[in-house]
Amino acid sequence: KTRAGKPPLTVRLASPRGFCAGVERAIRTVEEALALHGAPVYVRHEIVHNTHVVARLSAMGAVFVENLETVPKDRPVVFSAHGAPQSAHMDASARGLIKIDATCPLVLKVHNQIRRHDMAGRTVILIGHRNHPEVMGSMGQAPDGAVILVETLADVAALPCLRGPLAYSTQTTLSVDETKDMIAALKARFPDIAGPAREDICYATSNRQDAVKAAAKECDLFVVIGSATSSNSTRLVETAKIAGAADAALVEDAGKFDWARLEGVTTLGLSAGASAPESLVEEFLTALAARRKLRLDHIETARENVVFNTPLRLAS
Ligand code: SF4
Repeated sequence: KTRAGKPPLTVRLASPRGFCAGVERAIRTVEEALALHGAPVYVRHEIVHNTHVVARLSAMGAVFVENLETVPKDRPVVFSAHGAPQSAHMDASARGLIKIDATCPLVLKVHNQIRRHDMAGRTVILIGHRNHPEVMGSMGQAPDGAVILVETLADVAALPCLRGPLAYSTQTTLSVDETKDMIAALKARFPDIAGPAREDICYATSNRQDAVKAAAKECDLFVVIGSATSSNSTRLVETAKIAGAADAALVEDAGKFDWARLEGVTTLGLSAGASAPESLVEEFLTALAARRKLRLDHIETARENVVFNTPLRLAS
C-alpha cells in the first residue's frame, strides 16, 4: 500500500465528467420533495443509476419502489430521471398519488417526439438497449407495437419490409459513434425515414465521450467511476478502450477497486458517469495518492453550464 519506491503515476483527468444537469435536477427534486412533504417520499425506480446517491437519499427518507402498488395514497411519488411509460403516469393518477415528475427534459423531448410521430401515423424505430428504464419509458409513449426497438446493426438488417411512414428516435445515453452507424444503416434501408432535427443523444453523453476519447490515448488503464446499471458510464468504458486505452474498468468507488490492477500502470485515465458524484472521483484520487506520487493532467474538451429547474420550483 505504500508508495515508497513506486514510479510516479500520471493521471489524465477527463472533463466534463460526472453529474449532468438532468441528474442534478432529479436529485434536487427528491430533496425538495422531502423538504416540502416530509418523509417518506416514494421514488419510482432508482432516481438516477448510482448506488451512493440512492443510499444517501434513502437515509434521508426516500423509498425506492419498482411499481406503485405499495405507495400510500397521500404520499408523493417522484418519477426517476429516466422517464416512465404513459401507463405509469395513468396508474399514479388512478391511485390518486401526488406525482412529481423528475424525468430529464432531454428524455421528455424524445417522448414528445415519439408521441408526435405516433399521432402522425408514423411507425417509430427506437435505437436503444432492451430493458433499460429509459427505453421502456420511451416505448411506452405509444400503443404496443407502434415502436420497434433495434439494438444492433444486425437488428436493423433483420427488420421486415415496413410499409407506411417511418421515423427513428434514440436513447439519450448511447455511444455517439455506434449510433451514427445504426442511423446510416436505417437510412440505407429506409431512405424516407424521418429523424429528429437534432440528435437524441444528450449533450452530457456526447461531451463525456469526447473527453474520454481525448484522455484515453496512451493510458495503460482507464477508470470510469459509476454504477454497473448506468448506461452512459458503461459507454464511457467502451469509448476508452476504442480510443486507445490498453485496459478500462467501471469502478463503483475506491473501496471496490482491485488495487492489484495498478501494478505496472504509469498512465491512468479517469472519468465519471453522469450519475456519479464528484466526491467519489476525489476519494479515488486520494486513494491513488496514498499509493503513488501523482502527476495530474487535466484534459478538458468542453465547458458545461446547463441547469434545469426542478418541477417543484417551477410549480412554486
Ligand atoms: Fe438528461 Fe443526458 Fe443526464 Fe440522462 S445523461 S439525465 S438525458 S442530461
